[in-house]
Amino acid sequence: ERMLEIRKRNCNPIIMRNTYYKKHLHLHQGYMQWLWDINGRRYLDLFSGVATVSVGHCHPKVNAAAQKQMGRLWHTTNIYMHSPIHEYAEKLASLLPDPLKVIYLTNSGSEANDLAMLMARVYTGNFDVITFRGGYHGASPYAMGLTSMAAYKYPIATGIGCHTTMCPDVFRGPWGGSHCRDSPVQTIRECNCSPDCCQAKDMYVQQLKEVLDTSVSQQIAGFFAEPIQGIGGVVQYPKGFLKEAYRLVRERGGVCIADEVQTGFGRTGSDLWGFKAHDVVPDIVTMAKGIANGFPMGAIVTTQEVANALTRGSHFNTFGGNPVACSIASSVLDTIEEDGLQQNSAQVGTYLLTELAKLRDKFDIIGDVRGKGLLIGVEMVKDKVSREPLPGVEMNEIFEDCKDMGLLIGKGGVYGQTFRIKPPMCITKDDADFALAVFGLAIQRQME
Ligand code: PMP
Repeated sequence: ERMLEIRKRNCNPIIMRNTYYKKHLHLHQGYMQWLWDINGRRYLDLFSGVATVSVGHCHPKVNAAAQKQMGRLWHTTNIYMHSPIHEYAEKLASLLPDPLKVIYLTNSGSEANDLAMLMARVYTGNFDVITFRGGYHGASPYAMGLTSMAAYKYPIATGIGCHTTMCPDVFRGPWGGSHCRDSPVQTIRECNCSPDCCQAKDMYVQQLKEVLDTSVSQQIAGFFAEPIQGIGGVVQYPKGFLKEAYRLVRERGGVCIADEVQTGFGRTGSDLWGFKAHDVVPDIVTMAKGIANGFPMGAIVTTQEVANALTRGSHFNTFGGNPVACSIASSVLDTIEEDGLQQNSAQVGTYLLTELAKLRDKFDIIGDVRGKGLLIGVEMVKDKVSREPLPGVEMNEIFEDCKDMGLLIGKGGVYGQTFRIKPPMCITKDDADFALAVFGLAIQRQME
């Protein structure tokens, strides 16, 4: 009866506003890397609610921490101190380099980026904010202003107090798709130097300088960058570029903000934080998604000096720092360590990248495979020579075919041309083999 009730509700066109799947998917239950729909069909989750369910659906340790705290204290508002917030702040601060030791808790990534933007402007007294094309930083009016992707923007709303300058497309390369000026590359695959090509780096640096020097007020408040772009299609910058970008921004008085909403909490495998791979220490780090395994939470971590600029009392947020959220977030950090999930991200991620590269060599419509750890993008093209994005209809067919075979993947990219793989970090090599088999078959069928 309950199932019938759920199905009836599912038919209501008002609550059925799901634009992601052509055929609606109604999920009912999850456990670790698996999800079940209301008909009892099981799916391997390669997307984890957009890189959010970091340690696994309903992970027993995290569930236990949540239940324990729910039986003790639900809410205080951030005007009172409580043990979970205290414990979590200490734990989180110990995992970030000096001088990043001041923590603010929010409920989402958008709120975290809003606060970071406010801090950047108040601290520097400047107005202009620099972001990258293909970057996604949230959906609140401030954060939407930082987001460059047209599909997520309402310009009429983002005009409110927001000035965002864009950088060139760092994915398709400054030379119309090639990463290297001198190399007569025919395909992305044949370009060996990406993403470490120093020529590409120099070109991007030059373009960034131009953007910085021609910004409206020429007084830079902040520079927002994801260490690897997520929604933009798992885009990696040329090696050394971000470090140079930080230097240029700071030279002009701005602060540097690392948006770790997708890259944080061990997902990239090599470190807990994506910025580490770029050999930089940001002034502000923003976090959300994987922070609490799907429970609403966000955070920013900054320096004492930047935090001191917010002089008008403490940052008030009714739900930010909620005791249940903090207990969950603490147990997520413990679980990442105890279950070796960062290492697992590195191992299974490397395996997936290697095997996906073999699929890329086999199929003409896979243009590029890239990423780090369990943050992987598979760029689909019409063919490897033209490198034109695979049309949306064909992307959807592959996507739906995977779903019908029990595999949930993500889509993204500036042209909607990238499949995104960001599973719970507990995924195994056997799961990866299943995913590769299904994905390969879906592509094969598409090409027939
Ligand atoms: N930054 C990045 C890099 C994101 O991917 C997202 C969400 N997709 C956000 C910020 C915004 O987070 P939220 O949806 O929790 O507001």
